[in-house]
Amino acid sequence: MNSVFANCCSPLPGDKIIGIIHPAQGIVIHAIGCSILNQYTDYPERWISLSWEGNKGDLYIGKMRILLLNHPGALAQVTTCIYEMDCNISYIKVIGRKMDLIEMIFDIEVKGVHQFNTILTAIKKLQSVHSIERFINQNKNTLHHFYL
Ligand SMILES: [Zn+2]
Repeated sequence: MNSVFANCCSPLPGDKIIGIIHPAQGIVIHAIGCSILNQYTDYPERWISLSWEGNKGDLYIGKMRILLLNHPGALAQVTTCIYEMDCNISYIKVIGRKMDLIEMIFDIEVKGVHQFNTILTAIKKLQSVHSIERFINQNKNTLHHFYL
């Protein structure tokens, strides 16, 4: 059966995971604790317990939401930091704009949750960063295929 990572919680190695069987998509893998799982509490037959497997060099998409101060060089500080941590950015999206802040989503390629958290901590210390958190897309029911 095919398996894909849920776009809502984007699980990373190190996260506890669970699979939900979908007739069309195969097994959709969520992080335990993802609120989307509440939709399946009446269908225990669709749940499948999973653990991580794969090769050491495999990369996964980790998503972070950053509130960036709106001043020159702010974005460069973040991208330089990610570059210096030897990590690739696969996607950037601006999702909102407040008076002095820009809200952005960054998808970065990581080996697992430990590396993701190390990078998140480094970005948090930057002068241009107001706040940062791991991004969990709680409002979305649609699931997309994992992309790299
Ligand atoms: Zn999920």
